[in-house]
Amino acid sequence: MALIVIDPGHGGSDPGKVGPAGTFEKTYALDVGKRTAGILNPDHRAEMTRRDDTFVELADRPATAKRLKADVFVSIHFNSNGPSAQGTETYKHPDSTSEDTRLAEAVQDRVVAATGHNDRGVKEANFVVIRPTLHYVDTRSCLVEVSFLSNAAEETRLGDPDYRQEIAQAIADGVEDFLAEDRKAGRADRTRKP
Ligand SMILES: [Zn+2]
Repeated sequence: MALIVIDPGHGGSDPGKVGPAGTFEKTYALDVGKRTAGILNPDHRAEMTRRDDTFVELADRPATAKRLKADVFVSIHFNSNGPSAQGTETYKHPDSTSEDTRLAEAVQDRVVAATGHNDRGVKEANFVVIRPTLHYVDTRSCLVEVSFLSNAAEETRLGDPDYRQEIAQAIADGVEDFLAEDRKAGRADRTRKP
């Protein structure tokens, strides 16, 4: 059993990216985040940085994971870069460890495999929510940009709850892959203490 914090990007007054049809990144991030937490919960304890359409400061997001001494923190976002951009990319922080890279790769691989998205790979960025100094020392973190909301075809596809469930399942599977490898290596006893 592991403690996983799911961080749906944006919220409240911050819509995030806005698609050509006018849908918001914050809406899909929350929906996919809730689905991901729901899938993870029977085997683990999954918490969320927000459960509704509220604004949460960037630094408060890793703070939640730190307070809970989370094993894993996954921030969920949708990308924007013109009408033809497509694909998935997952971010790790430049100061992160090889373990964070392993988490990012596991999530990236699963999302690409499940959705058939263009594999844009694991990248590095100095995003606040995955900054190691803001996290508990044993929390591994990554930020997944699932797809491009600026792409009209992708925005339409995101309107389908089955597709959003598929994405959530893939993110959960990525986390499970990461944790399973941990167990195999006998790395950490991730049983939570009260
Ligand atoms: Zn975002």
